[in-house]
Amino acid sequence: MRAPIHLLIAAAALAAVPAGAVQPTSAQPGHAPASFLRADDHRIVSIVHRLGVAGRAHCPETLPLAGLAFHHLADYRLQDRPEAIARYGVDRGVGILSVVEGSPAARALLEAGDVLLSVNGVSFPSPAAIAAERDEDERRRLTAASEQLLEDALRTGPARVDVARGGDVRTLTLDSVPGCPARGRLARSGQDNAFADGRYVIMTTGFLGFFRSDEELAVALAHELAHNILRHPQQLDARGVPHGLLRHIGRNARLVRATEMEADRLSVRLLASAGYDLDAIMPFWRRLHARPDTALQIISAHPGLRARERNISAAIAEVRAAAASAPPR
Ligand SMILES: [Zn+2]
Repeated sequence: MRAPIHLLIAAAALAAVPAGAVQPTSAQPGHAPASFLRADDHRIVSIVHRLGVAGRAHCPETLPLAGLAFHHLADYRLQDRPEAIARYGVDRGVGILSVVEGSPAARALLEAGDVLLSVNGVSFPSPAAIAAERDEDERRRLTAASEQLLEDALRTGPARVDVARGGDVRTLTLDSVPGCPARGRLARSGQDNAFADGRYVIMTTGFLGFFRSDEELAVALAHELAHNILRHPQQLDARGVPHGLLRHIGRNARLVRATEMEADRLSVRLLASAGYDLDAIMPFWRRLHARPDTALQIISAHPGLRARERNISAAIAEVRAAAASAPPR
């Protein structure tokens, strides 16, 4: 699944959610800390994190994964920003949208709704200044750079983070685990798509309704994560393969199809490492390929169903043969 460029832009726009959707973050005594502000985002982020941590052996470059997902003032539409500030305080720093259960961030007692003010004494860039940037690409670059600041700090070991929670500021120690470059996001968009942009694995809200289970979601997310691990977005850009409809013609289509086959094979290994049921992979793809309304957008650059099935079945057989011949632990 690859995206036309307009979807990449749409991906950055996270609309504000209705007040009722917000999970309580004020921990009463004995009250479990909130792990997410938005349940759907949390599903995506948690699955991508699980794939990234478990799949680490398949990734030439690893990332320090803390188990966090963020939201930024700049993510919100202009008219929603005053409310985002009032509700989440995202004008003060990098807002925490999700904390994956059992992750280093959860062990550090970070909570959804917290705002990261600084890491190892270095303040995060001003969210208001980033949000005021008029160029959308530059705004997204600056937002990603804020998140990068934390990743860079975690590369050197546990980091000291100053966190705003309610009216207080507290200092916590945040550790990480090495994993694949697994950064998941849910984009507010009515279009059906899932895609990899080189940095993030992105699912649209419009597409989410298609998935019957977390297992199905994992198949699509592992495929997109594989694109990022294999650096396909960068490779196709470097070879001048355009986004949009021209991608599906001639040489471009052949290059794209080769990356699709490669991503499918790696996705099988990622799913196996994370303990997902490999027998659930092909039923999902068959169901997706059977959807005529999404054929152009999602499947047109992909191999046909039969080629995909041969490719995936061979990868599953390889994974199972390797598991069968591995010495018992
Ligand atoms: Zn793909």
